[in-house]
Amino acid sequence: MLSAEIIAVGSELLTPERTDTNSLWLTEKLNGIGVEVKLKTIVGDDEARLEETIRDALKRSDIVITTGGLGPTEDDITRQVSGRAVARDLVYREELVVELRERFRRWNREMPEINKRQAYVIDGADILPNPNGSAVGMMFENGTPPSRRPPAQEARAGRPHRSRRDGGVPTEDCISMDAGFTLIVLPGPPREMQPMFENFVLPRLKKKAGGIFVKRRILRVSGMGESAVDEIIAPIYKASKKTVQTSILFNKSEIEIHLTAKAKTDKEADATLEELAAKIAAKLGTAVFALKGETMEEIIGKMLAENHKTLSVAESCTGGLIGMRITDVPGSSRYFVEGSVAYSNDAKKQTLLVTDEIINKFGAVSAETAEAMAAGMRSRSGSNYAISVTGIAGPDGGTEEKPVGTVFIGFADEAGAKSIKLMLPGDRYLIRWRSSQAALDYLRRQILKAYE
Ligand code: AMP
Ligand code: MG
Repeated sequence: MLSAEIIAVGSELLTPERTDTNSLWLTEKLNGIGVEVKLKTIVGDDEARLEETIRDALKRSDIVITTGGLGPTEDDITRQVSGRAVARDLVYREELVVELRERFRRWNREMPEINKRQAYVIDGADILPNPNGSAVGMMFENGTPPSRRPPAQEARAGRPHRSRRDGGVPTEDCISMDAGFTLIVLPGPPREMQPMFENFVLPRLKKKAGGIFVKRRILRVSGMGESAVDEIIAPIYKASKKTVQTSILFNKSEIEIHLTAKAKTDKEADATLEELAAKIAAKLGTAVFALKGETMEEIIGKMLAENHKTLSVAESCTGGLIGMRITDVPGSSRYFVEGSVAYSNDAKKQTLLVTDEIINKFGAVSAETAEAMAAGMRSRSGSNYAISVTGIAGPDGGTEEKPVGTVFIGFADEAGAKSIKLMLPGDRYLIRWRSSQAALDYLRRQILKAYE
């Protein structure tokens, strides 16, 4: 498997103001063709450090990609530094200036002389056109005729290497051109970098990678802990270790099982994933709610739509979060009738028809109130199902009997109302989020039961 390394160039990327997103985008694309990203670095506009970083990267990795620093100004240094790192001169390509001048003319502007800098490219590198900007990219593969060769004794293991350090700054051109590296130099702005990579780099790397297809699948599990999931499915994924890489991750309120399959064809990768996902789902039963990365609210939507059922929600401590999640799904108007945020006791009484008696006797955070909220919401909205949440999200308001994290979820259908009690860990944000997830999952399990 080919290894890649990404170097994001730009001092602004070392400040809190700008984030390096290019490497994330590139990693996704590289993984998709079976190239593994082993390391990424952010380097400021600093010639010595950038040169050292590129040289080190070329020693370790089959493919090195830089982004940024190709502009026409003084602080854009990637062009000359990458040339130095592979021991090549920059050559002036007049045709690039002609093209640039023409482009500026079309914008009714005169090309500033400073842009001539962008016509210098690494000797022997392929030029990557940039339809969206003035900086061309470069792809330099060793094996292209070198303008000079390093002394034979300097060549080692087919990788470029430095023979001498001078105050931490590499000064010698001592690159082995014998085997195995590709340097790709791309512009920084994503709208220039992305089409350049997709059109002119990806097809070539795909060929190099030998036509490996990588497919990913995410299964989502609710109501179980990470280690419990692992214990149950470990025998299955360990048996498939050669073809599928499995990782189990915890995510706020659910467990994600990430499966990555590599195969010679697209179809084969899909089939491998399908088989393993089915085995895992069979073992975990109803705890698995999504087999293809769907969110809980998407799954709920699908179940309601398929069964021609409608839903309303009565929320207290989640403050509308459940309603928001449900209506985040396009097409939710087919099954979502109404949501109410009944925060105060008065609102619970007036909007949801919860009686004084229930609130006085059991409290606003109680099984009885949760059930009354769901039943009241169902009857006023006319929906098939209603769910409700009432709880203590904290940080204040907890008591010995009902500490922060005490949450009741109610459910009502034509058969009546029922509820569950949860003790949720976390801060206010997490308790609210986990309450919303628990309510949706409770609903999911009720619908599953009804259609067993
Ligand atoms: P440059 O090619 O260094 O002149 O970069 C121009 C602009 O591209 C920067 O100001 C950023 O807005 C954007 N940019 C550069 N590098 C990155 C990166 N790694 N991720 C996202 N945006 C970037
Ligand atoms: Mg820059």
